[in-house]
Amino acid sequence: MKIDKSNKQGQKLQQALQEGVLSQGEKIKKDIFNKANNAQKKALLKDKFEGALRKVDANLSTNFRCFNEEHNDSNPSMRFNLEKGGYHCFGCMENGQNFDLFDAIKEAHDCKGFKECYNKAIQLFVAEGQTLVKTSNRQAGRFTKEMYKILHYTFLYKIEEDEFALEFLEKRGISIATANRHGLRLWEYQGWWFIVFVNDNGSMVRRRYSKDDTSKMYASVPSKWWNQRGQSGFFNQRVTEKAALNNDIAFVTEGAFDALTVEELGMYGVALNSAKHIKQFFESNNYQYIVALFDNDSTGMISNARFKEQGYYSVNYEDFSHLNKYKDINEALVADREATKRELAALVRKAKEFYKI
Ligand SMILES: [Zn+2]
Repeated sequence: MKIDKSNKQGQKLQQALQEGVLSQGEKIKKDIFNKANNAQKKALLKDKFEGALRKVDANLSTNFRCFNEEHNDSNPSMRFNLEKGGYHCFGCMENGQNFDLFDAIKEAHDCKGFKECYNKAIQLFVAEGQTLVKTSNRQAGRFTKEMYKILHYTFLYKIEEDEFALEFLEKRGISIATANRHGLRLWEYQGWWFIVFVNDNGSMVRRRYSKDDTSKMYASVPSKWWNQRGQSGFFNQRVTEKAALNNDIAFVTEGAFDALTVEELGMYGVALNSAKHIKQFFESNNYQYIVALFDNDSTGMISNARFKEQGYYSVNYEDFSHLNKYKDINEALVADREATKRELAALVRKAKEFYKI
């Protein structure tokens, strides 16, 4: 959506987002902002957006002519949405779609990516002294310091140290380069071997891959997946920083293997490690351009729908003849790498259309 600068409301919008519209005293108190969680921070900023619009006498209570350049709106059909802190046009926007503070900043200040818009919002609406979250090209998406700690544990082995691990990954279409780029390690427990996925916050998720003969003396077989007790974390969420540099799409999957599969195909993949973590993800996620890619089964559908409800784009498996034949993206990759890559790329295009990027 491009803002029509000759439109009165479009001009008000532009005006409200200039420096100095709100005085220091009218801005969000720095310590209140810092103590809030991510969802609360966004809500605080959207609330101040409304305040700034009121200050420039923008129309917040009745319909007005849509400021979308491409929409020839003769019958006023745009309205400020108090609840969501943004604009909705009944003529040119889909139901549930909203032009929010961060879209407005992107337009008014020519910012790129969510992080830049977010930082600009902080600059405009939080009282001075607030430090901005800076991400340079060089730093984006690198291992976190919590990860580095784990990666140096002496009881964890490198992937290359076990040929069974190499074979296991190969069968699943994952290259050793992709495995190492994501810090995968090996771990042994009473003769059972696991691939260890290190999450951004330093927690671990383990996937059993082989047993050797010594393990036969133990009666119990550990579960296929083993999450660290009392801890949860997301795998590879840090790549959203990288995606943000170019407004790229980041896929969100349930399992770490699926996120790794997406990465293997040259795209961005984040895993929540459990559908139970979806709510936590919504609260902590700062990146807008994500696509839910949960499994192609009934529980996966429920998860995909939850993302859709939050305004994110979700895969619709029926649109993709190859992907639709398999339970998850890794099975699809193993069956036909090229077809999987082609359909994921098509999914990215659909999502970019949806997000208008
Ligand atoms: Zn419109």
